[in-house]
Amino acid sequence: MTITKDSMIDQMYRDLGLTGPVIAFGRQIEKELEERFRKIDTTAEYNQLKVINAMQKNRVAAQHFNTSTGYGYNDDGRDTLEQVYADAFHAEAALVRSQIICGTQALYIALAANLLPGDELLSPVGKPYDTLEEVIGIRPSLGSLAEYGVTYAQADLLPDGSFDYDAIRAAIKPNTKMATIQRSKGYASRPTLSVERIGELIRFLKEIKPDIICMVDNCYGEFVEEIEPTDVGADMIVGSLIKNPGGGLAPCGGYIAGREDLVERCARRLSSPGLGKEVGANLGVNRDLYQGFFMAPTVTAGALKGAIFAANIYERLGYRVIPNGSESRHDIIQAVEMQTPEGLCAFCEGIQAAAPVDSYVTPIPWDMPGYDSQVIMAAGAFIQGSSIELSADGPLKPPYTVFFQGGLTWQHAKLGILMSLQKLVNKGIVVL
Ligand SMILES: *Cc1c(COP(=O)(O)O)cnc(C)c1O
Repeated sequence: MTITKDSMIDQMYRDLGLTGPVIAFGRQIEKELEERFRKIDTTAEYNQLKVINAMQKNRVAAQHFNTSTGYGYNDDGRDTLEQVYADAFHAEAALVRSQIICGTQALYIALAANLLPGDELLSPVGKPYDTLEEVIGIRPSLGSLAEYGVTYAQADLLPDGSFDYDAIRAAIKPNTKMATIQRSKGYASRPTLSVERIGELIRFLKEIKPDIICMVDNCYGEFVEEIEPTDVGADMIVGSLIKNPGGGLAPCGGYIAGREDLVERCARRLSSPGLGKEVGANLGVNRDLYQGFFMAPTVTAGALKGAIFAANIYERLGYRVIPNGSESRHDIIQAVEMQTPEGLCAFCEGIQAAAPVDSYVTPIPWDMPGYDSQVIMAAGAFIQGSSIELSADGPLKPPYTVFFQGGLTWQHAKLGILMSLQKLVNKGIVVL
């Protein structure tokens, strides 16, 4: 008897708990996505070459993976990695540090380092990511920029998601020092901004006020397109290493890339005036940061395929999905409105059950601090909280939207999505 590869794979899926109809449905949807997946592979190929080129240009060598301790003076590996990031992102300079705890801190550093008392910060794309509310002082908070005399203005997007140019023009004042532009929708319902649209916005801002500093929150956007916001005029881009650019290997950290004078101020804010970029021991993480950046283009491609696969699976079943199954992608986040608490929980249970780590636990909703409803989260990750790894979460309130992202490999993302569907089928919520 000859065994086809497909039937071997089907058998493996069955061993993992999937049933025939779910496997067949997944295979049908995947077949329809061949052309789109090819385009994603082409983007990954381009970005892979971009990263390799930056590594070769900077003569990355084995000694750059050495550990530094103490003050971390003369850490050539750390300094070279920063130049690799700067070159890959077509920026003058970069700060890439494991000492930056997360994306929020990277953004805080970029803002706090470059805004002085009396300056105003403008968000021309509506309310920024939740964790920035306390950073800026939109919600009063100890240590916020507002406490230091930095004011904040906001122009919301129009209902159709386009820029409100009149409101933006009206919001720019002589003391508007910086604009913060969030690329990803994060957990809001607005569309994610393409790099091209970010470029249009930056051109408009600089026409009105040529010296305005344009900072882009690049979280979840790196390597999704062939260009980054620094290619279209952004003065700084900021992100987390436990998202796309860490490639799943970086154990923690954040980056800021952009104009040399601005990045220098960030370094001084992170360490201390007078010390700047010269200090900061790598404690042995350099190789993971290099290798993660090397992996990032293909890892991001896998996550992107997963997001598109999920959108098409659930759209076909009649669910509202954001972005929809066919629109272009500018970040790796996928939202699915599950309509019921049971649907939301079943989806998350499937993601958990497909994980390489902690697959045997069942996620349950809990009263997470800072949220006005219970929240359910599923993740079985190698790095705590890493959202380039397959994860899903959502608040238990209508329309019971699950936010889904990541997957270090397309094959794992696919298993997770099929497993989420299986849980819905098992509970009678979906009939195939
Ligand atoms: C993840 C994210 C951040 C930063 O979040 P951390 O959890 O602190 O890394 C900021 N903005 C956006 C749009 C994000 O997706």
